[in-house]
Order: sequence, then structure tokens, then C-alpha cells
Amino acid sequence: MRLILLGPPGAGKGTQAKMLKEQFGVPQISTGDILRQAVKDNTELGIQAKSFMDVGKLVPDEVVIGLIKERIKQDDCEAGFILDGFPRTILQAEKLSETLTEMGLAIDTVVNLEVNAEEVISRLAGRSTCPDCGGMFHEESRPPKVSGVCDGCGGLLAQREDDNAETILKRLDVYQESTAPLKQFYKKQGNLKTVSARGSVEEIFSRVLEMVK
Ligand code: AMP
Repeated sequence: MRLILLGPPGAGKGTQAKMLKEQFGVPQISTGDILRQAVKDNTELGIQAKSFMDVGKLVPDEVVIGLIKERIKQDDCEAGFILDGFPRTILQAEKLSETLTEMGLAIDTVVNLEVNAEEVISRLAGRSTCPDCGGMFHEESRPPKVSGVCDGCGGLLAQREDDNAETILKRLDVYQESTAPLKQFYKKQGNLKTVSARGSVEEIFSRVLEMVK
């Protein structure tokens, strides 16, 4: 199973990717998570990426394309993978197709999570994540059992640095300009499936499963 989750920031790609990973036993590959870890570890990649991430801009294509090319060749990706947050530009999508073709593989399905800008803003502004296990919560729709503490691992929840009003708006602009055109790209390839990303996490998951099966 080789899957891409497409959609604006806050559509729920990360949450759905984690549920799909559990269901199908294939890795979730989130370029955002890889980059945030690199920033935390203060690696060369992290230092390079941070200035873009802090202001809601995309990290240069060549950097993320290199990351993904390396990642999908690893052994745990043999049975498939779920791409979450990649590709985000047409060039990234083209390079991904090229790499997969060279490997004799292809993307099976692109699930496009559709949600409007108003909903995205409210979701991101109320979101907190666990830096230890990646668990995601929302103050209204998915509150943790104990305020500020991850239900899964007990880690202390934090708000992402880029989940502030100004950066959220910038990320939405970037999505419209650079990432939304991917819907047309994959529609032409015949593997785009659009689902409504409104409702509970479980409702959205059952819609996603319908598309994937
Ligand atoms: P995310 O966690 O997917 O919302 O990504 C957080 C930030 O990481 C984005 O705002 C970008 O700065 C960067 N990023 C993640 N994935 C990509 C990508 N495929 N291409 C470029 N930048 C990315």
C-alpha cells in the first residue's frame, strides 16, 4: 500500500496517517516530523530548515526530495508507506513519481482531505502535540484526559511553534499557491480520491478507509 495524504495544514493528515499506520502496518512518513526532529537535534538539516518553518514557508524542494528518496528506499517501506505532508509542490510530485518508477513502484491512492479555511484556523489554533510520541490533541474536539498531558505516553503537550495566527495564514497561502495544484496533477493520473475532513476523527477515518480499500 503506497498512499499519499493531501490536504491543507490542519486537515488531519497526521492523525489519519497514524491510524492508517496502525491498521495496515506500514510506516507513516511525515516530512514535517522529520524536519522538526532535525531542528530539535540541531543538525545541519534542522538549521537549514528552521528559518523556513518558523515563517510558514516551504523548505526548498531539493532538501525534502533528497530526504524522501532516502527514506522510501529503507527496508520498512517494502510493503508500502503513507506519505503525510509530501509532496507539497508539483516538482516534489514529479520527482517522487520518477523515483518510484525507477524502483518499479507507483502510488496506489492519493486521499485528498477537504476542509475549509475557517475550520483549519480553529483546528490549528487549538491544537497541541506530544513532542515525545507525536500524539495530537485539540482543546475542544479531542481534549487529553489530563490537561497538558499526552494520553498515550504521559509526555508534556506543547503547541507547535508554527501554530500561531500569523504563520497559520501564511501556511494556508502557501498551500493554495504551491500544494493545491497537486489535486489536478493526481486527478489527471486517475488516483485522486477526495473525502470530507469534517466530523470526528473516527468518521473521517471510515471515509478514508472506504477510499483505500
Ligand atoms: P507539517 O508538519 O507537514 O505541517 O510541516 C511543517 C513545516 O515543515 C511546513 O510548514 C514546511 O515549512 C516544512 N515542510 C514539511 N513538509 C514539507 C515539504 N514536503 N516540502 C517543503 N516543506 C515542508
